[in-house]
Order: sequence, then structure tokens, then C-alpha cells
Amino acid sequence: MSKQTLSFQAEVAQLLKLVTHSLYSNPDIFLRELVSNASDACDKLRFEGLNNAALYEEAPNLDVRVSFDKAAKTITITDNGIGLSQQDAVEHLGTIAKSGTRDFMSKLSGDQKNDAQLIGQFGVGFYSGFIVADKITVESRRAGLPLAEGVRWSSAGTGDFEVETMERAERGTSVILHLKDDASEYLNTWKLKSIISKYSDHISLPILMKKEAWKEGENDQPGEMAMTDEWETVNQAAALWTRAKKDITPEQYDEFYKQISYDSQAPLASTHNRVEGSTEYTQLLFIPAKAPMDLFNRDKAAGVKLYVKRVFIMDDAQALLPTYLRFVKGVVDSSDLPLNVSRELLQESRAVKAIREGCTKRILSMIEDLAANEPEKFASFYAEFGAVLKEGLGEDFANRERLGMLLRFASSTTDSTSVGFADYKARMKEGQDAIYYITADTQAAGKNSPQLEIFRKKGIEVLLMTDRVDEWALNYLHEFDGTPLQSVAKGAVDLGKLQDEDEKKAAEEAQTQFKPMLDRLKDVLKDKATDVRATTRLVDSPACLVVQDGDMSTQLARMLKQAGQSAPEVKPILEINAQHPLVRKLEGSAHFDDLAHILFDQALLAEGGLPDDPAAYVKRVNALLL
Ligand code: ADP
Repeated sequence: MSKQTLSFQAEVAQLLKLVTHSLYSNPDIFLRELVSNASDACDKLRFEGLNNAALYEEAPNLDVRVSFDKAAKTITITDNGIGLSQQDAVEHLGTIAKSGTRDFMSKLSGDQKNDAQLIGQFGVGFYSGFIVADKITVESRRAGLPLAEGVRWSSAGTGDFEVETMERAERGTSVILHLKDDASEYLNTWKLKSIISKYSDHISLPILMKKEAWKEGENDQPGEMAMTDEWETVNQAAALWTRAKKDITPEQYDEFYKQISYDSQAPLASTHNRVEGSTEYTQLLFIPAKAPMDLFNRDKAAGVKLYVKRVFIMDDAQALLPTYLRFVKGVVDSSDLPLNVSRELLQESRAVKAIREGCTKRILSMIEDLAANEPEKFASFYAEFGAVLKEGLGEDFANRERLGMLLRFASSTTDSTSVGFADYKARMKEGQDAIYYITADTQAAGKNSPQLEIFRKKGIEVLLMTDRVDEWALNYLHEFDGTPLQSVAKGAVDLGKLQDEDEKKAAEEAQTQFKPMLDRLKDVLKDKATDVRATTRLVDSPACLVVQDGDMSTQLARMLKQAGQSAPEVKPILEINAQHPLVRKLEGSAHFDDLAHILFDQALLAEGGLPDDPAAYVKRVNALLL
């Protein structure tokens, strides 16, 4: 290929403009990004080399070398990884592929200062080089290609780049940064070393730099430091998770998390263990501080990377965790899986099943630990991930009890989402034999719902369930620690021992006394309600709607319909408060039918629903107001 000049993809040009023209809050990150690319290139060689040893070309020891030339004002980062073919160079160094970079681009605000800060947190891969360089040259040869098929790529980071063929003896890539005038501080061993140890210590490959030594001074003058030709390893060069916990600082864990997750914040919690026994593996797992935007997409990529005996196998190894723990990030390194394991094989592997169970248990213990010892962190975890955790009730039967213990709700007596079933049980009234809850669209709607009136009157706490998944999830949890869960909007109200004899008697009497009226209501509302009955559940309201025990609540049916999903037609039961003046007024009223419809529609409104025919409702009310 003779020399060609090509244009960057529009997004790259935009990104480069930002990288080169902004103030950089943290220019050091260029090295982190380039070393990380070099390390990825070595991982790729290792992986392809499993099936094709010839790719190693007699140079089996993989490493990354960082050097600089003070006179030429260049820094060079060289790896002997997979390398780039000519086509790779055009495609990969001219477009944006990386999800992290795309993520970054989507967060740009247009405000230079903000955006520049974002670069520091995210890093934008290869293009970070232009933070410190006004020209970058890449020389590379893909492993296995003839020496004559190397490639030289270069660009000043403006609109275009050049590529040409070159001869290159060594496999792999050299990235040569021609430093800007104001970046000469990086032409310094100590400076580069300190950046490497800050950001790239955990990289599993050795990162080498030329050793410096004191040169003897002349004429009794003190000597100075000078570079020798000897390379030395300047990082720990052991994958972070293979090191002993005690040798890893919290900062190193955080930095590792940020690199694998593209998150700019430190994680909320982490766990690092070596599991021994019939299946052996190391797990290093993190709970992020904030939920990603696509948390509720159940098909979203999982966050755990799989390694087998330190060899990187795949990102997003979905089989390693249940779907409801899709927010967890980290690494699992197994010594029991074959190196050529495929996604399909993973699904069936017994070792994977054991790893999955082990990781799930670990994460649940981590969350339990937060709940027990770090209430603030737990509250923040729950606000971010509580709703997905609930999916586990339907997905992970083996851990249902443990998950149940972790759930928190607001209640009729507590505003914050902090009441667990165990707290609730401890506060139950003498004689109370169920955990009562109500599902509602919002906390306020739940709290003010007519169905709660009798519970309020009797001082019985009711849990408010306002997450979309609550009702679905509770289908899988019928009881907690031997106490049944009972929706206050389903079935007949049965307060058991909490109801006194007089109340029971009054209710029965009402049922017979008002039978003619109830029958008439039933007839008028036959298209809307399956039944009409008198209730003791209401205190101040004239009426409310309930459904039969096994039925879907009216809220859930409404929510599903709004979301465009199919939902069974739920025809509720209208319960009326026979003591209420409005109900009394019904008897003998000339507007019986209209009042009956208004009673029903208002009960629907009270729980956040809408009458089937709002205009008819308005007409009826207006007719009465006149
Ligand atoms: P990312 O590495 O996250 O995909 P970059 O913008 O940093 O994004 O790099 C783009 C692509 O260029 C990489 O995906 C990789 O294919 C290629 N690349 C970058 N550096 C190297 C390298 N040192 N060796 C081989 N390929 C590289």
C-alpha cells in the first residue's frame, strides 16, 4: 500500500477536537489508556494463540515497553501483542468502536469544561494520546503476517490520517507520541513510573521501562541520572485478583473497578475471594454506586468477565450470574474450565453452575452485610437496585428467603423505603396474623387509599408497594417466616382476631339489611362490577374497589395496559360503606342509577384509575350539581 490520506469518521473528528482543544483536568490518563490497549492486544494474542501457536513467532513473553526520547520529544509505548493489519489500522484507528467511548460521547454536554472533566474520568482510548501529543505515529504488524506487511499510521489529530505499508520485524504495535511543547514534563522516568503505578499496576503483563543509574561525574562534580539499556519491570504485573487481599489497597480495587466498568465513580462495595473445593475459582465482584440507564433491560450485557487460568476468555459472561444480578461487575477466573470454552458450553457446564451459585451467594452476603452494618450504603444500594433485586423472587427460588429478608418498603406509618418484613413482623399487633400490604401507583395514592381506612383506625401498619415489579414479585412470595402476606385490596377484609365481635355482627347485619339495595346496585353496575357488597373496611369513604384473592390488582392491570402489554380484564368488586351518608342517600333516591355509577367511578378515581367513560362521569356529576 502506498501512502494514503484518509478522513476520520465524523464522530472521531468531533472527539479529537474536544481532546485537543479543551482544558484537561487530568492529562495523565493518556498513558493509562494506551497501556490498557497494549495489554488488550496481548490478551488477544494469548487467546488466538491457544489455537495457533505460530502467532507467537518465537517471542513467547508478552510485555509492554514504555520509553521516551528527550531530544526528539517522543514517548513510545510498544507491545508485542496481536498487532494491527493495514486494514485494522484504517478501521480501528479511524472510527469509534469502544462502548466506553460511545458512552462518553453520549454524555457530552457541549460545555468545554464539563466535557474536559469527563475525559479525565472516562478516558477515550487511543485518542487520549492527543491530549499530550500533536502528532501520533503508530507502527504495527499483525501477528502471523509477513514482515513486509507492517503498517505505519500517523495523524496530527485533525481531520485526517495517513497510512502506508512498512517493513517491521517485531510483531505488535508501537505508539509514538510526538509531545506538544507544554507536555515535556512527561519526558521523565519518575513521572511516567508514578502514572503507571497509579493506573496500571494491576495490568497482568509486565510493563517495562529503561533503568536509570547514577553516572559518575567528571572532575569530582556530582553525577546525574542517566538511562541505561537495561529494562526493568515497573508494575506489579500480576492480575489484581490473583494477588492476596492484604496486598491490595482500596484505591487499587477502585481503580480496577473503574477500568473494567467504564464507571467514573468508585463502587459501593466489593468482594474478593478465592473459592476452593470441587470447583476452584477466584471471584472479584463489585456493586456499582449508581444504576446504569438501561438497568431494566433484562437483555443487557452482564458485567462479569470470564478468565480461565488468567487468560481472558470473554466479556459479559451471562451464565455466571442470574439475570436479576445484572448490575454486578467484576471478574471470575476459573481453573476448571477448558480454555476453548464457548458461550454455549458455558450454559451447560457443571462448573459454571457451581460458580454461578457461589457468586450469587457471595453477592447476597455482601448486600446482607450492608443491610446489617452500613445502613446508609444499604439505603443507597436499595434505591438504585432494589427493584431489580425483587425480580429474583421469581427467578431464584433457592434464595427466595434471603431475598425476602432484603426487601424494604414504605408503609402507612413510615415514609422512607425502610421497612423490611422482619421489622414489620416485630411491630405486628397482638392477634394480627398477616402481613398487610397495598399496591399502588404512588406512595401517596397507597397511603390515602380508602382500602386502608380500617387499618388506620385500628393502628395496623400496611406496607406500601409502589414499584412496578412489586405485585408480580409478590406472586412468588406468599409468606414471610411463616406469616402470610395479604393484600388489603384483595378478597374480603378479614382482620381475624383484630376485629371485635360487635363489628362483625354489624357487618353481617348490614349485609342482610341492605340486601335489596345491594342487589339493585349489582344490577345497575353489572357491566362494571362482579359483585357489590357491604364492608367493614371503610371508615370515611363511601365505597372502594377490591378484587378476588387470586386476581390481578386493578393497578397492575392498568399499568400493563399503559405499557402496551396484554392484561386480563379485571372486573372488580364494589364494596360499600353502609354507614356513609352518601350510601344512605342512595336508598329511595330518584337518581339511584346515576349515583350508583358515580359511586363506582369515584372509587376508581380514588385509587388512581380513570372511569371508562370520563365524559359520562362528568355529565352525571354536573347533573347533580345543578
Ligand atoms: P478500545 O481499545 O476500547 O476498543 P480505542 O479507541 O482505544 O478503543 O482503540 C480502538 C481499537 O484500535 C481497539 O479496539 C483495537 O482494535 C485497536 N488498537 C488500539 N491499540 C492497539 C494496540 N496497541 N494493538 C492492537 N490494536 C490496538
